[in-house]
Amino acid sequence: MRRAALAGLLLAGAPLAGVWGHGINGHVHVTGWAAEAQPAGSALAALFADPLLKNTVLIAAAFPDSGYAVDHPYGEAAHWEPFTEAHVAFVRDTYGPDYASVEAQQQVAFLIGTACHGLQDELFDSLFLLQIREKDGRGQEEADPGTDAFLQVDGHLRFFPEVWLPAEALVQVFAARGIEVSTNTMERGLRLVSSVVINGREHTAPIHDAQYRPLLPWASTHYVDPTVPGSIAAEIPATAAYQRALWARLHGEFPVADLVVHGWPGARRLRSVRADTVDSWISLVFGAGVTKGSLNDATVRLLDPQGAPVPVTVQGTRWGGSPTDSSRLVILRPTVDLLPDTTYTVRLEPGVTLIDGTTLEVPWETTFQTPCADPEAAGCADEAPPAFPPPPPPDAGVEVDQGAPDGALPDAGPTDAGSPDAGRPDAAAADGSLADLGGVTDGGADAAAPVAGVGGGADGCASTGGPSGGFGWAALLLAGLSGRRRRRARGAPGRPR
Ligand SMILES: [Zn+2]
Repeated sequence: MRRAALAGLLLAGAPLAGVWGHGINGHVHVTGWAAEAQPAGSALAALFADPLLKNTVLIAAAFPDSGYAVDHPYGEAAHWEPFTEAHVAFVRDTYGPDYASVEAQQQVAFLIGTACHGLQDELFDSLFLLQIREKDGRGQEEADPGTDAFLQVDGHLRFFPEVWLPAEALVQVFAARGIEVSTNTMERGLRLVSSVVINGREHTAPIHDAQYRPLLPWASTHYVDPTVPGSIAAEIPATAAYQRALWARLHGEFPVADLVVHGWPGARRLRSVRADTVDSWISLVFGAGVTKGSLNDATVRLLDPQGAPVPVTVQGTRWGGSPTDSSRLVILRPTVDLLPDTTYTVRLEPGVTLIDGTTLEVPWETTFQTPCADPEAAGCADEAPPAFPPPPPPDAGVEVDQGAPDGALPDAGPTDAGSPDAGRPDAAAADGSLADLGGVTDGGADAAAPVAGVGGGADGCASTGGPSGGFGWAALLLAGLSGRRRRRARGAPGRPR
């Protein structure tokens, strides 16, 4: 599909809007900004300083939604921690513990990017979307395409990765999760995402911006606000912390005591003491999947300065209805107003359980402060939030940018790196050309097996096979891409519409 044809389809009213979830360019960029935020001198900073591996983590951040593009359940599965857990086990067993080869490092980078996408969807959907509902009276239909369009129109986008995926390895990881998928299907899905969303953004963004900015006056100005939980900007430090947790898990060094890797309000003051607004919610981000059933009033508590419990509603991720489903966050929703300028404690009690069965054995706690009744009073001001977009690190080196002569990477296709140098910029011609969908063929042999369940539970998000034969735009626009919303709506009784 050529850009002009894509634009023609969109201008003709093809129903592309609202079908991509948390915008894919948003996923790519939050993941990239988080990668650049790793501490200088750290192993992760060194990993992402390599343009090849930077490209790998960026394109991997687009990968989970590629399943929707071809209406195959591998995409939904790739969003959740049960897949990530299997992915970690595969990469650790196959390439660990030192990950010395380029091939091993590509596997690590792809795992991290894929997992970051799932975390970001959980944060965006469970926190930011509910704020949009409260402030703008809108939801996913507007916010998903809207935020990606705002990022483009507001001039924040600078990562445009080339297509690459460790297809053979992924086939094995999906098989471990009971999902049969071919390398061709995954390649086709990712190329569609690349062509339509990443390389087609200049055509889609102005249309979506004009359509959704008037409907989202609060969201269109706060998606870049680092102080708003779940916003695009706020996802960056959470994603960076999750990347470090994944790195630790790949090295077998992630004790359950380190489970909480980020949280809101963190070091800042809570945004409101009033129980009737999302602004009073407190949330913690986990570095590994926790069973939703283990997050309850007994294991997650809010305590006042005297240690007395404050009544809260405890909830995990927004999607999935089974106690065995996984969650990478927990939200405490006070059901009574809190006191201003007061220090509260959030406490996790033994019994919080990871999806691998590991259980928190000692209490974990953190504190936060509520806002002052008079925010202007002495000592009540918060520090200035970090800048958005984050400036690139001074030693970032070559940016991965479509068409940049020095940064262009070869389109390595769906194969695993066959040699340490396979896919490296100096190992093949790098023309930076757009992916040509016409060259992608349909394997046609993979049956779509039922998915084990959203988050690994049993509430079922099974789907039947993807489109057969050659790729068709009608199939993409009319069937495949609506899958995410349809599947996720199941087992989500709290869904607003
Ligand atoms: Zn997604």
